[in-house]
Amino acid sequence: MSLSGKVVIVTGASSGIGAATALEFAKHGAKVTLVGRNEANLKASVASCKAANSKADLLPIIADITVDAKRIINETVEKYGQLDVLVNNAGIFEVGNILDIDVDQFDRIFNTNLRAVFLLTKLAAPHLIKTQGNIVNVSSVTGLRAFPGLSTYCASKAALDHFTRCIALDLAPHKVRVNGVGPGVIVTDIHARRGLTPEGVAEYLELCKQTHALGRVGEPKEVADAIIFLASDNASFITGAVIPIDGGKHAMCPR
Ligand code: NAP
Repeated sequence: MSLSGKVVIVTGASSGIGAATALEFAKHGAKVTLVGRNEANLKASVASCKAANSKADLLPIIADITVDAKRIINETVEKYGQLDVLVNNAGIFEVGNILDIDVDQFDRIFNTNLRAVFLLTKLAAPHLIKTQGNIVNVSSVTGLRAFPGLSTYCASKAALDHFTRCIALDLAPHKVRVNGVGPGVIVTDIHARRGLTPEGVAEYLELCKQTHALGRVGEPKEVADAIIFLASDNASFITGAVIPIDGGKHAMCPR
């Protein structure tokens, strides 16, 4: 799969899909910059990577992607001398009807889910051109389908999907590929972070059996495996694609 020795940045590597992705890259022998804000969780991710590959070369960076994009790219290139893959995974999820939410929610969501991705992409691009590397953006089924009470999150992911396609065209002449994945509901802390109780999370995940064609929710590793594929040479002729990793949720329609 030829990811050995590649220099990879994974944002949001302190939890969920990002932690699983950093782990898979470490198993493949990549040099991984793990970015997150929560120091204890980031340390736990580093420990998991080391447990899976004792020789793993890792650079944990405690950073907020909305303010530290430059530092994340610079520290990675200073340590490793190059950049091969950027995984824009960090994201936040908030709910609320347009009648109730205010513009602060819009700003929070778009600052994290889109503006920070724009900045990281812009700063990473010159380095990725040198290595003919690639970018994988973690979007959502909500980028493709509309859901009530989720307007800002859905819009941020729809914008991210189109950003992925546009940047794929900008960077194609430089042989840099840009793709995305669109997860359905995946078992991570994101559901508790939006304020659900443990019982509420369990109830929601149970309900999701009906909203995913395969009759179940997904695991972080199932998304990580797709990211690894897109980042590898096995996907050498794929760019501008956003692959649903959602048990068929994107194909369903209520009737
Ligand atoms: P998660 O478990 O809540 O993890 C989110 C990660 O993003 C954490 O590592 C968090 O870091 C990081 N993060 C958020 N804001 C950040 C910021 N400003 N700066 C740095 N790091 C930041 O969520 P997840 O489910 O793994 O989500 C990962 C991605 O998948 C997101 O883009 C999400 O929208 C997408 N997604 C998830 C699902 C799902 O059902 N789980 C479905 C579709 C799409 P700290 O905790 O260290 O702050």
